[in-house]
Amino acid sequence: MEDCPLDKAQLGYHTWSLLHSMVAYYPDDPSHQQRKDMDNFFRLIGRLYPCETCARDFTLLLTSQPPETDSQQSLSNWLCRVHNHVNQKLGKPLFDCNLVNERWRDGWKDGSCQ
Ligand code: FAD
Repeated sequence: MEDCPLDKAQLGYHTWSLLHSMVAYYPDDPSHQQRKDMDNFFRLIGRLYPCETCARDFTLLLTSQPPETDSQQSLSNWLCRVHNHVNQKLGKPLFDCNLVNERWRDGWKDGSCQ
């Protein structure tokens, strides 16, 4: 397979993978600096993401739903809701946010990731 520039869907898939994985390993009890860094990181995604409409809509979304950085649980639920907002906009199925840590950190309970 050739190495080619990513299209919008590929870029999105890989970016969500990075974002959910970062959030999966965010601490349960983050320091003030870790909270600030995570908040800044998401705001920078909204400014620098290389898809103009995606970045603009994401920035607007952060205004109404700012990152909830107080714990791993709250941040992973927040990111799941935000991702679902984009899923809904694109007509994709919504993801069950109760399963977010199985998907991105622990693996499925049926052992299928081992
Ligand atoms: P993706 O949506 O990329 O999801 C990847 C995987 O994450 C899925 O296979 C699933 O296992 C898991 N997943 C799905 N939903 C959730 C959830 N809620 N919580 C946790 N895990 C989940 N594309 C556009 O065309 N227009 C846009 O405006 C747009 N905005 C975007 C904004 C951002 C910040 C990002 C990162 C991407 C954006 N995209 C946009 C890309 C789009 O969201 C998808 O990434 C792309 O369409 C590929 O979709 P996919 O079906 O491969 O799954």
